[in-house]
Amino acid sequence: MQSNQLQKYPLNEDVINYYMKLAIEQSKIATEKLEVAVGCVMVKFTNNDQDHEIITQSHNKTNQYGNATLHCEINCINQILDKYGQNYDENQIFKQITLFVTCEPCIMCAYSLSLMGIKEVYFGCYNEKFGGNGTVLDLNTANYGANTYPSYGGFLEEECQQVLKQFYEKGNLNLDEDKRHRRKKKEDKHESISS
Ligand SMILES: [Zn+2]
Repeated sequence: MQSNQLQKYPLNEDVINYYMKLAIEQSKIATEKLEVAVGCVMVKFTNNDQDHEIITQSHNKTNQYGNATLHCEINCINQILDKYGQNYDENQIFKQITLFVTCEPCIMCAYSLSLMGIKEVYFGCYNEKFGGNGTVLDLNTANYGANTYPSYGGFLEEECQQVLKQFYEKGNLNLDEDKRHRRKKKEDKHESISS
């Protein structure tokens, strides 16, 4: 059900790749910190996409805080809310924000982005196990009572996948020995990714 494969997308590919590379940098920071290697950048585009500025960026922090919901997309949402504080208005902020993320948002993040009213999403590799932007569920397009948003996948896909692969080869050191090996076997068998 990969309905969001490379297709017509509004942004120039050089711009997309520029921000995807920054997201990849974040995913590498995650690896160094023994977090699942996914990173993202949220960017505000104005003036018919001619002007753009980074609003915030993050990587997964689930191990650092022992909180399984702290995926990079959720961290960015929270950072924006912290930054704008009482002036927060989802229609004014998130509707102008484009997300660049190394791996397709999982079901939790895809729906959270919908609730916040994000403008659009560009992602690197597909999330075969938990993808919420077309691979497992279509939470960005189906009408679940929240906002819909366009999502485009496959940008710098191999590079994004490579960082995740290196992370899994190294093993998630926060898991105990037994689980770590089990997980690796499972990942190898299904070639799947969890963000
Ligand atoms: Zn997620």
